[in-house]
Amino acid sequence: MSYVNEVLQQVIERNPGEPEFHQAVKEVLESLEPLLSVRRDYQKAGILERIVEPERQIIFRVPWVDDQGKVQVNRGFRVEFNSAIGPYKGGLRFHPSVNLGIIKFLGFEQIFKNSLTGTPIGGGKGGSDFDPKGKSDYEVMRFCQSFMTELFRHIGADTDVPAGDIGVGAREIGYMFGQYKRIKNVYEGVLTGKGLTYGGSLVRKEATGYGLIYLVGEMLKDNGKSLEGAVISISGSGNVAIYAAEKAMQLGAKVVTMSDSNGYIYDPEGIKLDTVKEIKEVNRGRIKEYVNYHPNAEYHDGCFGIWSVPCTIALPCATQNELDGKAAKELVSNGCIAVGEGANMPSTPEAIEVFKENNVLFAPAKAANAGGVATSALEMTQNSMRLNWSFQEVDDKLRNIMVNIYKNISSAAKEYGCEGDLVAGANIAGFIKVADAMMAQGIV
Ligand code: NDP
Repeated sequence: MSYVNEVLQQVIERNPGEPEFHQAVKEVLESLEPLLSVRRDYQKAGILERIVEPERQIIFRVPWVDDQGKVQVNRGFRVEFNSAIGPYKGGLRFHPSVNLGIIKFLGFEQIFKNSLTGTPIGGGKGGSDFDPKGKSDYEVMRFCQSFMTELFRHIGADTDVPAGDIGVGAREIGYMFGQYKRIKNVYEGVLTGKGLTYGGSLVRKEATGYGLIYLVGEMLKDNGKSLEGAVISISGSGNVAIYAAEKAMQLGAKVVTMSDSNGYIYDPEGIKLDTVKEIKEVNRGRIKEYVNYHPNAEYHDGCFGIWSVPCTIALPCATQNELDGKAAKELVSNGCIAVGEGANMPSTPEAIEVFKENNVLFAPAKAANAGGVATSALEMTQNSMRLNWSFQEVDDKLRNIMVNIYKNISSAAKEYGCEGDLVAGANIAGFIKVADAMMAQGIV
């Protein structure tokens, strides 16, 4: 049995009932084969066995009282996966589907994504099975305060710096920051994605979506194509989806779809983003309300149908495994030439295979959505220096980072004999830096 298969087997046996974690580990490890065949020292140092095991996993009770006076109990998680190249860094997800396996898959991916940004941050992830949807602001505040009342002892500006993810935006970060400061009596950049009045960075809100478009733009350019005139299908209507749509439109593309967990909208004339922002950001409403404002648009129940809409570029920006093999075939037969993953692991392994077989340009999440965490690292830098950079300054740095990521992953793919395979390129380029840091630091 090969070294990779041996470790994969161990991961499956040791972590039962965590399919998303198995999926993420399999994808990364299998694509490392060409590297491992020349770097035998990694095997001797047990790098794979160590990198698949989180350094620390914290699971805790989060009790809170709802508006009816009823006691509610959620479960909180923080997985501190790898600190070889810097303090743990990665978002918090609040969604009813959250469990340890989901947090571990996200934390594992985060190690390599953070490495690709070129900034000194390790990998971690956390969250809770709490659902902020339908809760009052006070309920969300009480939950966030309770969550931080345990989490505070595990994190810190030089230890572990969480950020947002699904269900955690500016409101939740604000409540958690307030509670952290109150308990610790320290004003430090312990969370990123903060509001602009208390240490946040310009462009952080836009960063994942903008970064996705910068990277996809670079991939298209490298292949003699461009975003201008492209017809784009985007899923999701949260933070990543909205700002991916904004930048794509600024660069001359037409975005025709958006969705939430209930269904999707199709506006053949092009989505009006102001309406989406009003519905989702201001009113915290549902995407189907869009057709009340624009009767020419269509609303369809269910999420998977979104990939049957003809487009030239698809950007899945909602959640994991939202684009399967069947959807990928539909996209290809409708003329889709490129896919950029805004969400984490949105394409199933079967979908990625279909894209590969049909020469669809494919930008994997750990490279394509790294703009968010890269800008979080820029927020940490500004907090440490106690100054704020302008929008232009941060946006320029973000664009440079994304262009460099593209260059690094495409040249890593070429160097290891899989030219054009950006999945392999991203995994190899992200892995080498972390593995070399682990080698230098001994068996820890
Ligand atoms: P938000 O909570 O802002 O938005 C999530 C969007 O996805 C919503 O439209 C939501 O719909 C939809 N969605 C969530 N779960 C499901 C589901 N199970 N099925 C269908 N749709 C679903 O989150 P973000 O935009 O921040 O995150 C989206 C993705 O991007 C995630 O995979 C996240 O890990 C990834 N990401 C986010 C980063 C960031 O900076 N925010 C950075 C890097 C990656 P509904 O409202 O109905 O729940």
